[in-house]
Amino acid sequence: MNKKDYLRRLPKIDEVLKEGSLVILAEEKSTLLVTEAVREVIADLRSQILGLEDDALASFNTDCLAPGRVAEMATVRLAEDEAMNLYPVINATGTILHTNLGRAPLCADAVENVARVSRGYSDLEYNVAKGKRGSRHDLVGDLIAELTGAEDAMVVNNNAAATMIVLASMGRGKEIIVSRGELVEIGGAFRIPDIMKQSGAYLQEIGTSNKTKVSDYENAIMTKDKLEKGDWYDEDPRHGQRFETGALMKVHKSNYDIVGFTEEATLEELVEVGRKHDLPVIFDMGNGLMLDMSEYGLNEPNIPASLATGIDVMLFSGDKLLGGPQAGIIVGKKKYISKMKKHPLARAMRVDKMTFAALEATLAKYRDPKIALRDIPVLNMIASSADEMRARAGRLADAIHKVNPGLDLEFVEVLDQIGGGSAPMVRLPGWAVAVGDGNKSADSIERRLRKAEIPVIARIADDKLLLCVRTIAESELETVAEALK
Ligand SMILES: *Cc1c(COP(=O)(O)O)cnc(C)c1O
Repeated sequence: MNKKDYLRRLPKIDEVLKEGSLVILAEEKSTLLVTEAVREVIADLRSQILGLEDDALASFNTDCLAPGRVAEMATVRLAEDEAMNLYPVINATGTILHTNLGRAPLCADAVENVARVSRGYSDLEYNVAKGKRGSRHDLVGDLIAELTGAEDAMVVNNNAAATMIVLASMGRGKEIIVSRGELVEIGGAFRIPDIMKQSGAYLQEIGTSNKTKVSDYENAIMTKDKLEKGDWYDEDPRHGQRFETGALMKVHKSNYDIVGFTEEATLEELVEVGRKHDLPVIFDMGNGLMLDMSEYGLNEPNIPASLATGIDVMLFSGDKLLGGPQAGIIVGKKKYISKMKKHPLARAMRVDKMTFAALEATLAKYRDPKIALRDIPVLNMIASSADEMRARAGRLADAIHKVNPGLDLEFVEVLDQIGGGSAPMVRLPGWAVAVGDGNKSADSIERRLRKAEIPVIARIADDKLLLCVRTIAESELETVAEALK
């Protein structure tokens, strides 16, 4: 047979569409999309035939030209077209806030609330009791106030946006004093000096990388009087331009630590300096930890304790240690936050009903810390003991053994991490199941796991493929095992 013979055998689109499976699909989904899929499969086959080398002509298998086969291929193609680019994966890395894997998994109530609120209409900006326009800013304000003691709150898209609007509304055209030890880069393009520039505020760096004293803040304050008197001009060898101080700012050293010969001012000390000079104090906290979790090795400041020091404005992420949706939350004194709500940037940074729905349901858990620790996945993972992890590893190994008894399984002690640029020094003692498969490399098993229907993202250490169980939910154990079938 030659190419022409094969081409003649290609089925007609109409002929394929008569196949029972496609008739049903067209009815259930869309005649247009099913027809398109069939057309594409036939076009592919046509170019495949035209591309055949002479010596391959004879061995071309014509089975694939049967209408039934074409219908099958079209069904597969339809399914592929329907597959989303954003899909769930299983995190077996043991890193809890894995930025590449979507940071914080939401608690079940948050997910349900998102579906409940976004399926139809909602009171996003409507005050149902009064029958008139409401404000989305009021949706979680009271709850945040109750949980943190803040006078007011505002939610924006993420903490980078929060930093931007705080600086733009409090520091535009003014100097903001920040310690050189706290000029953080969070990753990507988020660097404190760059955000400062974008906001129109002027960064006034003080101290050194390792030591910044309270007096450094005091000495750097530029008042109207001092500015007019001009003494500073002679002190500055470059005679740079200076502006009035707008605020003192502390930035949490989220993703690094400075050890050794060090000194930094506490929030309390900054508040004292701020009070004395009538300047607001801002704290970019980053991680959004709401509870004292020092008993789990997490010696980080928490939101209520930080606010209690008297700082004026504080900002943090919704999807780091708070364990909620991506968001930036600004809390503090009403006089500053109401200005931010009216700032032109507020509209550009406002969050959607889905974020509010997830955030409110997550925050509600914090009314009882026990419930927060039980229900918010990020907190629950941090609070899980090594013994619990060993037991879960046992259950995972059992599940794997059931579907594939030929694999070599071994229990390995690991040190899990918080991740997401939070608490970089904290290591959580945990357990993993190491999976071996004859003489196959760890890399090849890792690839196989990534190709599973629900991809499993594993870790390789010392040439071993590790499934770290802290970040694998109990309900996912069977799915992980299936991936190794
Ligand atoms: C993470 C972090 C940010 C940025 O927050 P996103 O929510 O990721 O935008 C800003 N500042 C600090 C100190 C952080 O830790």
